[in-house]
Amino acid sequence: FNNELQRSEKMDIISELAASVAHEVRNPLQVTRGFLQLLEQKSKDKDKEYLRLALDELDRASDIITDFLTFAKPEIQQATTLDVLGEFRHIEGILLPLANYQAGRVQIDIPSGLLIIGNASKFKQAFVNMIKNSIEALGKDGLIRIWAYEDSGQIVIHILDNGVGMEDEDIKHLGEPYYSNKTRGTGLGLMVTFRIIEAMNGSITFTSEKWVGTEVITRFPSAYHEDMI
Ligand code: ADP
Ligand code: MG
Repeated sequence: FNNELQRSEKMDIISELAASVAHEVRNPLQVTRGFLQLLEQKSKDKDKEYLRLALDELDRASDIITDFLTFAKPEIQQATTLDVLGEFRHIEGILLPLANYQAGRVQIDIPSGLLIIGNASKFKQAFVNMIKNSIEALGKDGLIRIWAYEDSGQIVIHILDNGVGMEDEDIKHLGEPYYSNKTRGTGLGLMVTFRIIEAMNGSITFTSEKWVGTEVITRFPSAYHEDMI
């Protein structure tokens, strides 16, 4: 009898647990938010200030769940063949309201039939976190262009924005837990993204210029190519 779990089994159990917690916690957070908001509207001075602080902290809790577990499903996650275009249709549906809110445009140009191996929920989580950063970086006349193609057995996905950009010094810290330049950032989004892409045998590069924009290029082995080897 061996009561030592393998590391990957442990990770599966932790992910599964985190996913159920995220699901269970989201609803009470929303309900609490609603009641606090009602109270805030009716109160004055110090009370109003305390309630504002409580609402901000609740929003922070929701942001953490969003960056970690938007698509987490409380069952062990399987890898399958993913069609990049199909996944991006779903991602677009989730992010368009956020882009519209920031008055930014998103252009997506991805052919069908680009296939990779991975878990659909995690793939979407990785790209939602990256594109959400692009949206949050946008200023006036914000534009995000996303395109993908196959090149020598690799599926290459570009995300280009004309947002605030980054200094080289910032790029060095991307993916470190809690590294954020935002007043209300979690600094968890890219940490999660980097882990997911690594687990899918992918790679990621950032190029950026301050006040000009940022380009993220992600590469995955093509599912077709792997079959042929
Ligand atoms: P958060 O978004 O919560 O700050 P992330 O891990 O998602 O945390 O991102 C870390 C930091 O990387 C951000 O605070 C931001 O400064 C920088 N960043 C990431 N993507 C972009 C981008 N497209 N444009 C400008 N800055 C970016
Ligand atoms: Mg982020």
